[in-house]
Amino acid sequence: MPIRHPIIAGNWKMNKTIREAQDYAARLLGLLGEITEIDVVVCAPFTALSTLKDELEESVIHIGAQDMSFASNGAYTGEISADMLVDTACTYVIIGHSERREILRETDDDIAKKVKAALKAGLTPILCVGENLAQREERKAFAVVRSQVEKDLTELAPADLKRVVIAYEPIWAIGTGKSATSADAQEMCTMIRSTLAGIAGAVADEVNILYGGSVNADTIAELMAQPDVDGALVGGASLDPEGFAQLVLKAVTAL
Ligand code: PEP
Repeated sequence: MPIRHPIIAGNWKMNKTIREAQDYAARLLGLLGEITEIDVVVCAPFTALSTLKDELEESVIHIGAQDMSFASNGAYTGEISADMLVDTACTYVIIGHSERREILRETDDDIAKKVKAALKAGLTPILCVGENLAQREERKAFAVVRSQVEKDLTELAPADLKRVVIAYEPIWAIGTGKSATSADAQEMCTMIRSTLAGIAGAVADEVNILYGGSVNADTIAELMAQPDVDGALVGGASLDPEGFAQLVLKAVTAL
């Protein structure tokens, strides 16, 4: 029995109206409604979550958000709490995406608080980590990612840590069409797993580690074949339901 169940999560980013989300969900359900080999997650903007709840709550396809507040309620204008996400049938939430780290200046401290709040509410956080191009060229990629993992998962008990999903997303590969090689992805995911083992021991083997960065239907099989890559976080290639379904089905054949 494999210790980790693979995950493929689509990140729509700031795309799709409610009507488009409804149409997408119906089409995806028609294509992947029977899938059990992989957990498929659709991470949508907040405005589409309630619609996805109506369309997908009873199905095998999971609903995810793209961010949440570290606070549970109160005077945080514009924020959305973990409980509000649970209310829309979300079971996953992306935390610390590089676009939020870079554009919105989210810090590791903010991200660590969000991970804890997500776990407390029963959500599965998809924690994004990854280096930028300058850091890779200066051979600092491992140190950067190790530090993010350690800071963002600080003080978590092993039982909580094993509920976290980590997405290794090199920033230079996101939305650029320039993916890391499967060997590079494997190497970094192995380093992440050994960092987790240093924090929490044997539960590191139970943590799902995904790769993200210009993944498409042509590259997914090779990535899935890597022993420490347990799936993918997919941006652009998740926007079209037929294309995303094809990517998921190719991943299944590579298991
Ligand atoms: C992402 O948004 O997390 C991502 C990996 O995007 P893309 O697949 O478009 O590179």
